[in-house]
Amino acid sequence: MKPSCKSRRRRRVSTAWGRLTCGPLAGWLLLAACALTPLGPAGAASPEKIPAAASILPLGDFLTRIGGELVQVTVLIPPGASPHVYEPSPAAVAGAARARVLVYVGAGLDPWVSRLVARRGPNDPGVVQATAGLPLIAEVQSHGHDHHKGKGATHRHDQGNPHIWLDPVLAQDICRRIAAALMAVDPEHRETYQANLSRYLAELEALHREIEAAVATFRLREFVSFHPAFTYFARRYGLTEAGVIEAAPGREPTPGQLRRLVATIRRSGVKAVFAEPQLSPRAAEALAREAGVKVLLLDPLGGRPPYGSNYLQLMRHNLAVMQQALQ
Ligand SMILES: [Zn+2]
Repeated sequence: MKPSCKSRRRRRVSTAWGRLTCGPLAGWLLLAACALTPLGPAGAASPEKIPAAASILPLGDFLTRIGGELVQVTVLIPPGASPHVYEPSPAAVAGAARARVLVYVGAGLDPWVSRLVARRGPNDPGVVQATAGLPLIAEVQSHGHDHHKGKGATHRHDQGNPHIWLDPVLAQDICRRIAAALMAVDPEHRETYQANLSRYLAELEALHREIEAAVATFRLREFVSFHPAFTYFARRYGLTEAGVIEAAPGREPTPGQLRRLVATIRRSGVKAVFAEPQLSPRAAEALAREAGVKVLLLDPLGGRPPYGSNYLQLMRHNLAVMQQALQ
């Protein structure tokens, strides 16, 4: 059964196609999904390429940059979907089991990959958990992400905020570990991976410096985010996430929380609140109306025009959006 567009936010969809047939961008997303996710068994990939998989688009882009022509990258969460409310089909996950390099976020964001990883054993050199070994920002108990709504007991992870890829400095660390995994499974092409890594690290460093310089010119330092996705970004660049509209995606604010958010907006002077393209903007729109500010879209995942799956372009786009709200 296909979910309607209205109910998709809280429903886990069994196929990418069910989700992608919703919304005005459907056609574009469908094309993007075809380009990004050579669907189906690894047999579809050219035999000489290393099959690799990532749970979300930014990690898929890192893999593609470092692996270059040598890898065939599959991304499990399609463009337009959020890992908070979408789970890939068992067939898609099984396809990823054949990936020789597998990159995922961890910390409860993509638990369906964790299960796959558990089957591969703890010492598989091709597995990269992006959050592993990083000191994660704790999520306040009431701010935990609920991942499995309506599926018996609520699974609220207390493993920390998982959105580390939105900090371009932590992204460099993730890329180093992706390169190490590629070198471990394909030592013959070590030098290529090392060269690709060096080039991409320089680009990430340039991005970091650019954001630093731009944020230094912001008139305001506080912002109200849709869900706590830009917490690491804020910490890196000296901004404050003064309020969060939905502590967990899909959990709309109570009237009391809404009143406090309106007060925060008035006090901080922000000209906009943020929504995200993968989640319903309803709560952000209600808050914006109440507070008399605009709604702007910040995108933690990518997969839309004009940046597509390009992480560097995605982050520059997000920077420009923040600039509109805080300058
Ligand atoms: Zn999130």
